[in-house]
Amino acid sequence: MFKLMELPYAQNGLEPVIDANTMSFHYGKHHQTYVDNLNKQVELNPNLEGKDLREVIENISKYSVATRNNAGGVYNHDFFWNILAPIGKGGEISGDLSKAINQSFGSFEKFKEEFEAAGAGRFGSGWAWLIVANKELKIVSTPNQDNTLMDSYEVKGEPILVVDVWEHAYYLQYQNRRAAFLKDFWQIVNWNRVNELYSNAIK
Ligand code: MN
Repeated sequence: MFKLMELPYAQNGLEPVIDANTMSFHYGKHHQTYVDNLNKQVELNPNLEGKDLREVIENISKYSVATRNNAGGVYNHDFFWNILAPIGKGGEISGDLSKAINQSFGSFEKFKEEFEAAGAGRFGSGWAWLIVANKELKIVSTPNQDNTLMDSYEVKGEPILVVDVWEHAYYLQYQNRRAAFLKDFWQIVNWNRVNELYSNAIK
């Protein structure tokens, strides 16, 4: 059975960017529901039993749409919580990643603008990602609970940074101001983790 991961900080740990109330619904209700619904798929499809979640994601075309949505929901939220940290605890962007960002996007400011635009421009629900594809950085957005590791998804790459732009990620606090949430998001990025994901992805 799949389990709800433990948050690496308290539910109020990301305040004021993500308040405890938003976190309690997002993590405690939405994320939990993806876990519960994925486990219902395990009951329906014994092939899923004991599988590693990443392996399921990478072979998602073998599974049902409900498995795609719920396995994606679990994987993406696990990933998201792990690239966030309380303000002041996320460390600094590494020299290597900073250099690669400048090369790919012109400057860190331009990169942030492009990443925020990917999140703001995702119609409906989805995610904005920074990925490494063939050792190059790319910004993409995916709909629903898709990600760039899924064999059925058109853009492939190793995610290193992500932001959830589903309304449930920000609506209780920011209402319709998705762009304001995206601007505040930078304060809670766990660069230590993103740096590590980047160095693994270019190996
Ligand atoms: Mn979410």
